[in-house]
Amino acid sequence: MFDLTTRDIKYISGIGPQKADILNKELKIFSVLDLIYYFPYKYVDRSRIYYVHEVDGNMPYIQLKGKILSFETIGEGKQRRLIAHFSDGTGVVDLVWFQGVKYITGRYKTNEEYIVFGKPTPFGGRINVAHPDLDKPDELKLTSKGLQPYYITSDKMKRSFLSSPNLAKVMAMVFQQITKPLVETLPDWMRKEYHLISLTDALRNIHFPINPETLRKAQYRLKFEELFYIQLGILSYAKDRQRRYRGFVFERVADVFNGFYKNNLPFELTNAQKRVLKEIRHDLGSGKQMNRLLQGDVGSGKTLVALMSMLMALDNGFQACLMAPTEILANQHYETIKQLLAGMDIRVELLTGSVSKKKREPILAGLITGEVQILIGTHAVIEETVQFSSLGLVVIDEQHRFGVAQRAKLWSKNVYPPHILVMTATPIPRTLAMTLYGDLDVSVIDELPPGRKPIVTRHQFDNRRENLYQSVRNQLQEGRQVYIVYPLIKESEKIDLKNLEEGYWHICEEFPEYKVCKVHGKMKAFEKDEQMQLFVSGEAKIMVATTVIEVGVNVPNASVMIIENAERFGLSQLHQLRGRVGRGADQSYCILVTNYKIAEDTRKRLEIMVRTNDGFEIAEADLKLRGPGDLEGTQQSGVAFDLKIADIARDGQLLQYVRSIAQAVVDADPNSSLPQNDVLWQRLRALRKSNVNWASIS
Ligand code: ADP
Ligand code: MG
Repeated sequence: MFDLTTRDIKYISGIGPQKADILNKELKIFSVLDLIYYFPYKYVDRSRIYYVHEVDGNMPYIQLKGKILSFETIGEGKQRRLIAHFSDGTGVVDLVWFQGVKYITGRYKTNEEYIVFGKPTPFGGRINVAHPDLDKPDELKLTSKGLQPYYITSDKMKRSFLSSPNLAKVMAMVFQQITKPLVETLPDWMRKEYHLISLTDALRNIHFPINPETLRKAQYRLKFEELFYIQLGILSYAKDRQRRYRGFVFERVADVFNGFYKNNLPFELTNAQKRVLKEIRHDLGSGKQMNRLLQGDVGSGKTLVALMSMLMALDNGFQACLMAPTEILANQHYETIKQLLAGMDIRVELLTGSVSKKKREPILAGLITGEVQILIGTHAVIEETVQFSSLGLVVIDEQHRFGVAQRAKLWSKNVYPPHILVMTATPIPRTLAMTLYGDLDVSVIDELPPGRKPIVTRHQFDNRRENLYQSVRNQLQEGRQVYIVYPLIKESEKIDLKNLEEGYWHICEEFPEYKVCKVHGKMKAFEKDEQMQLFVSGEAKIMVATTVIEVGVNVPNASVMIIENAERFGLSQLHQLRGRVGRGADQSYCILVTNYKIAEDTRKRLEIMVRTNDGFEIAEADLKLRGPGDLEGTQQSGVAFDLKIADIARDGQLLQYVRSIAQAVVDADPNSSLPQNDVLWQRLRALRKSNVNWASIS
């Protein structure tokens, strides 16, 4: 059968080899299907004039006709804006300008008729139109063509006759050649039950909607489908795994756990720690393999939960293993855990890349015999040469630094897969966690150990250094320690390193009476460790570093975190860095230093940091400001969702809705055998092969 959608675009009339080449290179568009799945990013409706009472926040760019009732300026400084209350007699919208107030008030008059052109958005219970175009009524532009699509195009495309209007023409020509309906990708029953228009209509209308209503229906169908298949993939995968993999049953809580609890536990567990341990204990006894994500803000005490979970494994005759993303962190875990287990007869060993061959051999031997009960290390622990006698539990700390493929390697170390506990301080908003780790159960430590004082965060411009150094000096005189962090981004590594070196010398000059140490990513592992050790031991009072200290390092006596060029860090990274202080009983400070000139979104990020210490609030804000594609951790986690139309930040509700539908499908059709679902399972198989990296979701 001849299928137009799979044809190479270079054979399509109206495109040809030259344009095809540009589309291949710039947008990775090869087939007709690729092309028609390249969606517009905005629409402009010049087909008619809307009434204000019809307007809602989901509309494209539209036109209104009416008068300005009054002007008003509100807000201070950068928040200052001009509002014109605009009405056509059917309702009022607010026209908003953040710049050019004088110009606007000079140019436009109240009680004169204007055509307003702009994008309505809901704000504070009203409809806003930010920076609209205002024209006299005689300049009214109407076209009969419905909504105009706008596509993102590169400069190269624009130079090669593929600007947005050109691309729209190409798109229109392609749709003219699509005369038969496309192969439907959702079953009939589903389309009926959930009121979804056909794929062909949806695709046609996503490019050329006749009106906002058809656009909305097209968007809904395509978003629904996109999110639904992600969830169906995750949930059917989870079902398979549950069936295939039974887990070790840890029946007993016995001497090891109880002994630790009675004699060694240095403090009362927080309620959150207790609750999470109960959840873990339930999983471990259930007969299913545990696959749990433990989220807890920096400093919330995840290490202790990890240790006590490992002790449950020991009580049942199993070994446990804790993996950390860096040597520094693995070392620190090893030291902490050795200390916590002091006096107990438990053999704990450390295995990292820099453990010598001589030391390594007895450790490996001890793992095979089972004498080594707890192994702590970096990815060295998943090398082929490392064999356990009976590995029952694996704890993975700060997993977003850990490749997912590496996790899968653990499976091969056993008859049964060990129970898995993944810990992270990067709080992942619920909607995103559902998409990324759909079949992981999630536990949250939402409480810090008692006695911690909230960190005081300030934003300071870098022209007020004297002030800054005075506060640092005060803290140093009280015996505290100080971090100073510089950004390090790959593209400009040389410049960054220079900044760091200069900063280091500057600090040495400024504080000659204190020892200053220095850590950055270009150093050899042993040099880094040496410098870290100086700070951990308290010999060095100031540490100048790049973000290598971001993950996990614990120095309770450090009470000041200064972040230079704070504008160059993302929100979650700032939060992670801030989490390095505030670990002791003293009041801690985080100072975000920037240049005087900063962009609007930077200002917003810094404001959020100053306002709250709550990691979840920060993660939500981050998601809203940056979009999920940028969210730290998601990219490194190896999950490659390329969302074409849905938006995790905005479509959270739809996501939960389609997840429940996908769950119902999986429950009703566990063997993927019901004929009415043929379309679903076929489509899922096709998707698994192509765009989504399903193997990485586990
Ligand atoms: P994170 O969750 O960031 O990994 P850690 O496990 O490193 O946090 O714990 C941070 C600090 O809090 C450690 O010094 C640890 O000893 C301490 N801590 C953990 N649990 C408690 C508790 N229940 N009460 C008091 N201090 C605790
Ligand atoms: Mg930790």
